[in-house]
Order: sequence, then C-alpha cells, then structure tokens
Amino acid sequence: MKIWLDGALRDSESARVSVFDHGLTVGDGIFETVKAVDGRPFALTRHLDRLTRSARGLGLPDPDLDEVRRACAAVLEANPVPLGRLRLTYTGGHGPLGSDRGDQGPTLVVALGGTTRRPDTTAVVTVPWTRNERGALTGLKTTSYAENVVALARAHEHGATEALFGNTVGQLCEGTGSNVFVVLDGEIHTPPLASGCLAGITRHLVVEWTGAKETDLPLDVLREADEIFLTSTLRDVQAVHRVDDRELSAAPGPVTAKAMRIFDERSAADIDP
Ligand code: PLP
Repeated sequence: MKIWLDGALRDSESARVSVFDHGLTVGDGIFETVKAVDGRPFALTRHLDRLTRSARGLGLPDPDLDEVRRACAAVLEANPVPLGRLRLTYTGGHGPLGSDRGDQGPTLVVALGGTTRRPDTTAVVTVPWTRNERGALTGLKTTSYAENVVALARAHEHGATEALFGNTVGQLCEGTGSNVFVVLDGEIHTPPLASGCLAGITRHLVVEWTGAKETDLPLDVLREADEIFLTSTLRDVQAVHRVDDRELSAAPGPVTAKAMRIFDERSAADIDP
C-alpha cells in the first residue's frame, strides 16, 4: 500500500518513523479518520478544521493543510477503492525521551484503511469508567486512545462493538469512537459538547439535518430511551439493538431509520457539507 509520510508518497513497507517519535513514546499526536467514497474524501474541510483545532489544543504547529489535502488525494489515487477510510496522523515528531516536545518538527502520515461498511445495528455496553469533561485533552482528537482500547475490549467481551461512557457527573457522554443519540417521545437528543464528548463530524451533520436537540442526559436514559443510535465516520448512523442486558425490540426504530435515510441522502448529495 502507498502511504504519505513527511512530504512524499511511499511504500508502507519501507516508510519509517523514528522510534523516538513522540506519537509513539508519549501519545503526543492527533488524528482524523475521513471517509472516502469513489476516491473523494467526505467532509474533508470539517476534518481539516478539527485537525487544526486539535493541533492548537495540544500546542503542535498548525498542520500544512495544503499538504494534507495533497496527501489525501495522492493516497486515494494510489489505492483506488469504492469505499475507504483515510487515516491522518500528525504527531509531535522525533524528540528526546520524556514529555518535553522535540524540536525537529511534526510527523504527518496519511494511510488508507477499512473498506467495509458497518452493519446497520449493533450492541453496546456501558462501562464504569468516566470521561473527564474538564480535562486538558477534552474535545481534542488525540492519539492517546488507550482508555478507549480498554473500554472497547470490555465491549467485545460482552459481544458488543461499542462501549459508552458517562462523564464525572453521571451524564451520558459518548462511545470510544462514536457519539450517541437517544430518542425520547419521538424527539432526538444527544449530549452537548460540554458533556466532554468529541465534536463528531457525523454528530454535527445529524444535528443539523434532523433537528436533534443537544440535551444533558443522565447515563440512565439508556434504560428508558425508545431508540438509541450511534454516529461516527466509520458507522455513519448505526442503530443500537442492545444496551447492556436491555434489548431494544425493533432496531432501527422509525426515528432512527429516518435519521439514517436523511444522512445517506444528504451525504450522497454533498461530498463536503
Ligand atoms: N467520539 C470519539 C471519541 C471518536 O473517536 C469519534 C470518531 O473517531 C467520534 C466520537 C465520532 O466522530 P466523527 O463523527 O467525526 O467520526
């Protein structure tokens, strides 16, 4: 596979990043996952805005967005697939061991992964660990994902594909790699960004396109919601058919099915909404 590393397209087998790259040693890095349909990245402008916000939040230099766009185009051209996910990784770069930042400039990698569409429904579990709605990294899409790896392993132990977190004050927050929506009395609600969730791009578009409300919700809402769904670049809109031991009889329910339809139609009509 051809990937982009530091200014050029290279063979993934021969491309090398320093073993002292701070993305590896201290998780000092950020990333984006971008859906690509027929070789065209979806919502790229929004992803690049978030990449820049995450870089600023971590104190990394602003990424060169012209280079990132060129890299995405080059990787997609070199690896043609009908549906793919671009993975953009941008790290603190090579530097001394320890938490000080190196001075040799950041590392940019763009690669292509995941060519399958996710199923329309899934099972989720809640986990006892919390998202910190006031942490230094809250809202930034960093490569420090070990907490999500642990939570996702818990989900897999229970035959689920996603784990949902509450925050430190017991409100519903988000999944390891998704935002969460609930349907109550026919209305769609999702936790506000102040809950500590990532400003998901799919979440934003679903709120805009369906009129979903941003509402503080207790984690317990998952026990009574009429319908539950997840959003992410990898899932688009995905209905939840089981949360912990609770089966949701008809998933996707009617409101979720409509949200799925709206998302599919609007995203097919506009590649950079
Ligand atoms: N929340 C977290 C923690 C994520 O990692 C992601 C995506 O990777 C999302 C939410 C969904 O964001 P998006 O819709 O931009 O993919």
